[in-house]
Amino acid sequence: MPTIVAKKAGTCTAARCGGRILQGEFVEYSAATGTRHLVCASAEQGSRLNLRAGRCRCGAQVAPREGSLVLKETTLGTSFQKKWLVLCLRCA
Ligand SMILES: [Zn+2]
Ligand SMILES: [Zn+2]
Repeated sequence: MPTIVAKKAGTCTAARCGGRILQGEFVEYSAATGTRHLVCASAEQGSRLNLRAGRCRCGAQVAPREGSLVLKETTLGTSFQKKWLVLCLRCA
């Protein structure tokens, strides 16, 4: 699916997101699904398994394909950030 620059602010159509899309942000667009954050589009295309090793907030090391990912949104001043957090099986 093509990656475009959002011409206007909107809403991500990914089922698990629904977050804001900012004007000028890179998004994936298709007529069927509308605009989605790149991270949301790739998450929906692939499985929802965690594909990278990471560290859970409890400190446990999480191996690839174990645990789950949670999308976290933070606003730092004027910049808006999205980050996938890894959760281990106990915390998920
Ligand atoms: Zn999204
Ligand atoms: Zn944990």
